[in-house]
Amino acid sequence: MGEPIMAGSLGVTILGCGGSAGVPAAGNYWGACDPNEPRNFRSRCSIVVQSDQTTLIVDTGPEFRMQVNRENINTVDAVLYSHYHGDHVDGIADLRTFRFRNKALVPIYANDETLEVFDRNFPHFVNAGDSIYPQILEPRLIEKNAYNKPMRVGDIDFIPFEQDHTTCKTLGYRFGDFAYSVDVLKIDEAGLRTLKGVKTWVVDSAGYKHDDNLVHINLKNIYEYNKIIGAQRVILTSLTLAMDYQTLLSELPDGYEPAYDGLRLTAAR
Ligand SMILES: [Zn+2]
Repeated sequence: MGEPIMAGSLGVTILGCGGSAGVPAAGNYWGACDPNEPRNFRSRCSIVVQSDQTTLIVDTGPEFRMQVNRENINTVDAVLYSHYHGDHVDGIADLRTFRFRNKALVPIYANDETLEVFDRNFPHFVNAGDSIYPQILEPRLIEKNAYNKPMRVGDIDFIPFEQDHTTCKTLGYRFGDFAYSVDVLKIDEAGLRTLKGVKTWVVDSAGYKHDDNLVHINLKNIYEYNKIIGAQRVILTSLTLAMDYQTLLSELPDGYEPAYDGLRLTAAR
Protein backbone atom coordinates (compact mmCIF):
# COMPACT_ATOMS: atom_id res chain seq x y z
CA MET A 1 0.00 0.00 0.00
CA GLY A 2 1.36 3.41 -0.91
CA GLU A 3 -0.36 5.54 1.70
CA PRO A 4 -0.04 5.28 5.47
CA ILE A 5 -3.14 4.03 7.24
CA MET A 6 -4.60 6.39 9.82
CA ALA A 7 -4.95 4.99 13.31
CA GLY A 8 -8.55 3.97 13.85
CA SER A 9 -9.20 3.31 10.20
CA LEU A 10 -8.62 0.41 7.85
CA GLY A 11 -7.26 0.54 4.33
CA VAL A 12 -8.99 -1.68 1.79
CA THR A 13 -7.62 -2.28 -1.70
CA ILE A 14 -9.44 -4.11 -4.45
CA LEU A 15 -6.80 -6.61 -5.57
CA GLY A 16 -9.06 -7.98 -8.29
CA CYS A 17 -12.66 -7.44 -9.43
CA GLY A 18 -13.05 -9.73 -12.43
CA GLY A 19 -15.68 -12.41 -12.86
CA SER A 20 -14.66 -16.07 -12.96
CA ALA A 21 -12.98 -15.71 -16.38
CA GLY A 22 -11.22 -12.40 -15.67
CA VAL A 23 -11.06 -9.62 -18.29
CA PRO A 24 -9.74 -10.21 -20.86
CA ALA A 25 -10.54 -13.91 -20.64
CA ALA A 26 -7.94 -16.43 -21.77
CA GLY A 27 -7.34 -16.02 -25.49
CA ASN A 28 -7.47 -12.22 -25.17
CA TYR A 29 -11.27 -12.18 -25.33
CA TRP A 30 -12.71 -8.84 -24.12
CA GLY A 31 -16.42 -9.39 -24.74
CA ALA A 32 -18.27 -6.06 -24.41
CA CYS A 33 -15.35 -4.49 -22.51
CA ASP A 34 -13.32 -1.79 -24.25
CA PRO A 35 -9.66 -2.92 -24.39
CA ASN A 36 -8.59 0.75 -24.39
CA GLU A 37 -10.11 1.37 -20.93
CA PRO A 38 -7.41 0.34 -18.41
CA ARG A 39 -10.06 -0.21 -15.71
CA ASN A 40 -11.47 -3.07 -17.77
CA PHE A 41 -8.29 -5.09 -17.15
CA ARG A 42 -9.51 -7.25 -14.28
CA SER A 43 -7.90 -10.04 -12.31
CA ARG A 44 -10.01 -12.42 -10.23
CA CYS A 45 -11.78 -11.19 -7.07
CA SER A 46 -9.79 -10.47 -3.94
CA ILE A 47 -9.25 -7.66 -1.44
CA VAL A 48 -6.65 -6.78 1.17
CA VAL A 49 -7.74 -5.18 4.46
CA GLN A 50 -4.98 -3.47 6.43
CA SER A 51 -4.48 -1.68 9.70
CA ASP A 52 -1.10 -0.26 10.66
CA GLN A 53 -0.34 -3.63 12.29
CA THR A 54 -2.32 -6.31 10.48
CA THR A 55 -2.80 -7.45 6.88
CA LEU A 56 -5.74 -9.68 5.95
CA ILE A 57 -6.47 -11.05 2.50
CA VAL A 58 -9.90 -12.20 1.40
CA ASP A 59 -9.47 -15.03 -1.18
CA THR A 60 -6.40 -16.05 -3.16
CA GLY A 61 -7.45 -16.34 -6.80
CA PRO A 62 -5.24 -17.38 -9.72
CA GLU A 63 -3.54 -13.93 -9.89
CA PHE A 64 -2.81 -13.68 -6.15
CA ARG A 65 0.98 -13.47 -6.60
CA MET A 66 0.68 -10.73 -9.23
CA GLN A 67 -1.84 -8.82 -7.10
CA VAL A 68 0.27 -8.71 -3.92
CA ASN A 69 3.34 -7.79 -5.93
CA ARG A 70 1.46 -5.03 -7.75
CA GLU A 71 0.30 -3.55 -4.42
CA ASN A 72 3.63 -4.19 -2.67
CA ILE A 73 2.08 -6.30 0.07
CA ASN A 74 5.00 -7.99 1.83
CA THR A 75 3.22 -9.74 4.66
CA VAL A 76 0.00 -11.64 5.22
CA ASP A 77 -1.28 -12.28 8.74
CA ALA A 78 -4.26 -14.40 7.68
CA VAL A 79 -6.53 -15.23 4.77
CA LEU A 80 -10.31 -15.24 5.02
CA TYR A 81 -11.95 -17.39 2.37
CA SER A 82 -15.38 -16.75 0.88
CA HIS A 83 -15.68 -20.26 -0.58
CA TYR A 84 -13.76 -23.00 -2.36
CA HIS A 85 -14.31 -22.20 -6.05
CA GLY A 86 -11.09 -22.06 -8.07
CA ASP A 87 -11.39 -18.42 -9.10
CA HIS A 88 -11.21 -17.53 -5.36
CA VAL A 89 -8.63 -20.11 -4.31
CA ASP A 90 -6.20 -21.17 -7.04
CA GLY A 91 -3.34 -18.89 -5.97
CA ILE A 92 -3.19 -20.62 -2.58
CA ALA A 93 0.25 -22.17 -3.21
CA ASP A 94 1.80 -18.69 -3.20
CA LEU A 95 1.01 -18.36 0.50
CA ARG A 96 4.10 -20.58 0.91
CA THR A 97 6.31 -17.51 0.53
CA PHE A 98 4.58 -15.80 3.46
CA ARG A 99 4.77 -18.94 5.58
CA PHE A 100 8.56 -18.97 5.26
CA ARG A 101 9.02 -15.20 5.58
CA ASN A 102 6.81 -15.11 8.71
CA LYS A 103 8.36 -18.32 10.06
CA ALA A 104 4.84 -19.34 11.01
CA LEU A 105 1.92 -21.16 9.45
CA VAL A 106 -0.49 -18.81 7.66
CA PRO A 107 -3.90 -18.99 9.38
CA ILE A 108 -6.77 -19.47 6.95
CA TYR A 109 -10.36 -18.88 8.05
CA ALA A 110 -13.24 -20.53 6.20
CA ASN A 111 -16.52 -22.38 6.57
CA ASP A 112 -16.74 -26.18 6.85
CA GLU A 113 -17.41 -26.83 3.14
CA THR A 114 -14.33 -24.85 2.12
CA LEU A 115 -12.02 -26.51 4.64
CA GLU A 116 -13.25 -29.97 3.57
CA VAL A 117 -12.33 -29.18 -0.04
CA PHE A 118 -8.91 -27.84 1.04
CA ASP A 119 -8.28 -30.99 3.05
CA ARG A 120 -9.04 -33.08 -0.06
CA ASN A 121 -7.29 -30.93 -2.67
CA PHE A 122 -4.33 -29.53 -0.72
CA PRO A 123 -3.62 -32.08 2.04
CA HIS A 124 0.11 -31.26 2.02
CA PHE A 125 -0.63 -27.54 2.68
CA VAL A 126 -3.00 -28.01 5.60
CA ASN A 127 -1.72 -31.12 7.38
CA ALA A 128 1.54 -31.82 9.15
CA GLY A 129 3.48 -34.86 7.97
CA ASP A 130 1.27 -35.51 4.96
CA SER A 131 4.16 -35.51 2.53
CA ILE A 132 7.80 -34.54 2.31
CA TYR A 133 6.61 -30.94 1.91
CA PRO A 134 6.15 -28.90 5.08
CA GLN A 135 2.70 -27.71 6.13
CA ILE A 136 2.14 -24.05 5.23
CA LEU A 137 -1.41 -23.25 6.35
CA GLU A 138 -3.28 -23.46 9.63
CA PRO A 139 -7.00 -24.03 8.98
CA ARG A 140 -9.35 -22.24 11.36
CA LEU A 141 -12.99 -23.21 11.00
CA ILE A 142 -15.58 -20.44 11.28
CA GLU A 143 -18.37 -22.42 12.88
CA LYS A 144 -21.99 -21.67 12.12
CA ASN A 145 -22.56 -20.50 15.68
CA ALA A 146 -19.85 -17.86 15.11
CA TYR A 147 -21.71 -16.27 12.18
CA ASN A 148 -22.90 -12.69 12.65
CA LYS A 149 -20.64 -12.23 15.66
CA PRO A 150 -17.36 -10.32 15.90
CA MET A 151 -14.06 -12.14 15.47
CA ARG A 152 -10.56 -10.71 15.57
CA VAL A 153 -7.25 -11.32 13.80
CA GLY A 154 -4.36 -9.16 14.96
CA ASP A 155 -6.03 -5.83 15.65
CA ILE A 156 -8.70 -6.15 12.95
CA ASP A 157 -12.26 -7.05 13.95
CA PHE A 158 -14.56 -8.65 11.42
CA ILE A 159 -17.98 -10.28 11.33
CA PRO A 160 -18.56 -13.29 9.07
CA PHE A 161 -22.02 -13.88 7.64
CA GLU A 162 -23.46 -16.62 5.46
CA GLN A 163 -24.55 -16.15 1.86
CA ASP A 164 -26.25 -18.48 -0.60
CA HIS A 165 -24.32 -19.15 -3.85
CA THR A 166 -26.64 -22.07 -4.80
CA THR A 167 -23.78 -24.52 -5.42
CA CYS A 168 -22.43 -23.87 -1.92
CA LYS A 169 -22.70 -21.51 1.01
CA THR A 170 -20.21 -18.63 1.01
CA LEU A 171 -19.04 -16.24 3.70
CA GLY A 172 -19.28 -12.48 3.45
CA TYR A 173 -17.23 -10.33 5.82
CA ARG A 174 -17.94 -7.02 7.53
CA PHE A 175 -15.03 -4.86 8.74
CA GLY A 176 -16.27 -1.79 10.63
CA ASP A 177 -18.38 0.25 8.22
CA PHE A 178 -17.22 -1.73 5.18
CA ALA A 179 -18.45 -5.12 3.94
CA TYR A 180 -17.44 -7.54 1.20
CA SER A 181 -19.88 -9.99 -0.42
CA VAL A 182 -18.65 -12.45 -3.09
CA ASP A 183 -20.05 -14.89 -4.59
CA VAL A 184 -23.67 -14.53 -3.67
CA LEU A 185 -27.15 -15.02 -5.02
CA LYS A 186 -29.14 -14.54 -1.81
CA ILE A 187 -28.54 -13.19 1.68
CA ASP A 188 -30.77 -14.24 4.56
CA GLU A 189 -32.22 -12.00 7.27
CA ALA A 190 -29.37 -12.61 9.69
CA GLY A 191 -26.82 -11.64 7.04
CA LEU A 192 -28.78 -8.52 6.14
CA ARG A 193 -28.87 -7.53 9.81
CA THR A 194 -25.08 -7.85 9.93
CA LEU A 195 -24.72 -5.77 6.77
CA LYS A 196 -27.17 -3.10 7.87
CA GLY A 197 -25.50 0.27 8.47
CA VAL A 198 -22.29 -0.24 6.47
CA LYS A 199 -21.23 2.82 4.52
CA THR A 200 -19.44 0.92 1.77
CA TRP A 201 -20.56 -2.43 0.39
CA VAL A 202 -18.49 -4.24 -2.24
CA VAL A 203 -20.75 -6.86 -3.80
CA ASP A 204 -20.73 -9.55 -6.48
CA SER A 205 -22.74 -8.30 -9.45
CA ALA A 206 -22.05 -10.96 -12.07
CA GLY A 207 -25.80 -11.49 -12.55
CA TYR A 208 -25.82 -7.94 -14.05
CA LYS A 209 -29.18 -7.36 -15.82
CA HIS A 210 -30.21 -11.00 -16.04
CA ASP A 211 -32.93 -12.76 -14.09
CA ASP A 212 -31.69 -16.24 -15.01
CA ASN A 213 -28.29 -16.33 -13.29
CA LEU A 214 -28.58 -19.19 -10.82
CA VAL A 215 -25.48 -18.41 -8.75
CA HIS A 216 -24.75 -14.65 -8.91
CA ILE A 217 -26.88 -11.71 -7.81
CA ASN A 218 -28.14 -9.17 -10.38
CA LEU A 219 -28.38 -5.39 -10.10
CA LYS A 220 -32.11 -5.41 -9.40
CA ASN A 221 -31.67 -7.58 -6.31
CA ILE A 222 -28.62 -5.58 -5.14
CA TYR A 223 -30.84 -2.45 -5.20
CA GLU A 224 -33.49 -4.29 -3.19
CA TYR A 225 -31.01 -5.49 -0.55
CA ASN A 226 -29.48 -2.06 -0.26
CA LYS A 227 -32.86 -0.61 0.69
CA ILE A 228 -32.35 -2.60 3.89
CA ILE A 229 -28.55 -2.23 4.19
CA GLY A 230 -28.42 1.48 3.39
CA ALA A 231 -24.84 1.66 2.10
CA GLN A 232 -24.02 5.11 0.71
CA ARG A 233 -21.48 3.64 -1.65
CA VAL A 234 -22.11 0.30 -3.37
CA ILE A 235 -19.15 -0.93 -5.38
CA LEU A 236 -19.81 -3.70 -7.88
CA THR A 237 -17.29 -6.50 -8.23
CA SER A 238 -17.07 -9.88 -9.97
CA LEU A 239 -17.43 -7.90 -13.20
CA THR A 240 -17.89 -10.08 -16.27
CA LEU A 241 -16.98 -9.70 -19.95
CA ALA A 242 -20.46 -8.21 -20.46
CA MET A 243 -19.76 -5.34 -18.06
CA ASP A 244 -17.76 -2.50 -19.61
CA TYR A 245 -16.45 0.04 -17.09
CA GLN A 246 -17.62 3.23 -18.80
CA THR A 247 -20.96 1.70 -19.77
CA LEU A 248 -21.55 0.78 -16.13
CA LEU A 249 -20.62 4.29 -14.98
CA SER A 250 -23.23 5.75 -17.32
CA GLU A 251 -25.92 3.20 -16.41
CA LEU A 252 -25.68 2.98 -12.64
CA PRO A 253 -27.72 5.17 -10.30
CA ASP A 254 -26.10 7.55 -7.80
CA GLY A 255 -24.23 5.72 -5.07
CA TYR A 256 -23.36 2.76 -7.29
CA GLU A 257 -20.09 2.31 -9.16
CA PRO A 258 -17.99 -0.46 -10.74
CA ALA A 259 -14.81 -1.56 -8.97
CA TYR A 260 -11.44 -1.66 -10.68
CA ASP A 261 -8.23 -3.43 -9.80
CA GLY A 262 -6.19 -1.24 -7.45
CA LEU A 263 -9.16 0.82 -6.17
CA ARG A 264 -8.41 2.04 -2.64
CA LEU A 265 -10.99 2.57 0.05
CA THR A 266 -10.93 3.38 3.73
CA ALA A 267 -13.18 1.97 6.41
CA ALA A 268 -13.89 3.21 9.92
CA ARG A 269 -13.48 0.46 12.47
ZN1 LIG B 1 -18.13 -19.12 -6.76
